[in-house]
Amino acid sequence: MSPPLDPLGMLPVQDLDLAAPAAERARGAALRPCLFIDKDGTLIENVPYNVDPVQLRFMPGVGAALARLQSAGLALVIATNQSGIARGYFSRAQFAQLQEALLQRLRDEAGVAIDDLMLCPHEPDALGRPACLCRKPAPGMLVGAARRLHLDLSRSWMVGDTLDDVEAGHRAGAGGLLFHSGGETVWRRSPLREPDAVFTDWDALATYLLARLGDPTQGSPSCSTNGTAR
Ligand SMILES: [Mg+2]
Ligand SMILES: [Zn+2]
Repeated sequence: MSPPLDPLGMLPVQDLDLAAPAAERARGAALRPCLFIDKDGTLIENVPYNVDPVQLRFMPGVGAALARLQSAGLALVIATNQSGIARGYFSRAQFAQLQEALLQRLRDEAGVAIDDLMLCPHEPDALGRPACLCRKPAPGMLVGAARRLHLDLSRSWMVGDTLDDVEAGHRAGAGGLLFHSGGETVWRRSPLREPDAVFTDWDALATYLLARLGDPTQGSPSCSTNGTAR
């Protein structure tokens, strides 16, 4: 027989897990930094709405760069807008096949184990703005992955070939890096869309990140307690 509840319906005190706050703190200390990676035009060459594994072409040097970053303790998460699903150009099952081939090739050819792949299957609104919380430049995929994989967003970066990728990183409280491969054509600027750094090759990007791992002053300026940027 279970013990009687008290009049307010609270659990008896002996049933409360008093160790929980300590466990919570321990987990907080183990939060990992992460590199969030855009897929098209950043990780692989951009073939619009492609789901054919045969057409996968990795950007030069990306496998070796990701291997270096993974060895240094960085989590690796792909975050990709895939409105082709909402538009009916391909199914989730077709995308899953491409995803499997992509992750398998990174394992086989570079020894890289991607921690997760987040995708937004939704369409933007008529003005091209996100109509969901996950489509970049919204930060939903990054925030969701951070919660599930115990990532430290303040020591993380998003890299992509458009300013929407940069903005998504900043909106998540992470750094925002532009991989300049021709994907950005509009160049709509705002403070959230200013890249922290711009790269045209993966080797330089990895060197930049390795120099900043564990450095809390990396990334975009943080807010201090009196509300001024430091
Ligand atoms: Mg892209
Ligand atoms: Zn979405």
